[in-house]
Amino acid sequence: METEFIIRTLFVAWEEGDYVVGPSYLALKLKIPKSTAHKMLMKLSELGYGIYVEKKGFILTEKGLREGKKILRKHRLLECFLEEFGVEKSNVCEEASRIDSVIGEEFEKIIEERYGKRERCPCGKPIPVF
Ligand SMILES: [Zn+2]
Repeated sequence: METEFIIRTLFVAWEEGDYVVGPSYLALKLKIPKSTAHKMLMKLSELGYGIYVEKKGFILTEKGLREGKKILRKHRLLECFLEEFGVEKSNVCEEASRIDSVIGEEFEKIIEERYGKRERCPCGKPIPVF
């Protein structure tokens, strides 16, 4: 599983007010074993995206928050694009999730130019700004 996807999941939790996330939460959200979720949190912690405290959970650092914002902004701008392209509103998030981590810089620049001024994605969630 890609780091980007995990950081996005953690950032969404943060956005919803869950600032400390344990392996159980991540396991449930990503439908993966708890042991795998634990390893991922440890890895992200080593990379500086957060601090993992045993028996407590994972807290995003400034670096993690910045990365999360960047990833989620791209995801939600991509949702805007997909909706305009004809994808059903109820499916844009899932469809965007399939490709958001693999789109290139040029595509990212285009969606930034086209939808960068929007405040919310098609599902009504705020598009993070810097
Ligand atoms: Zn959305």
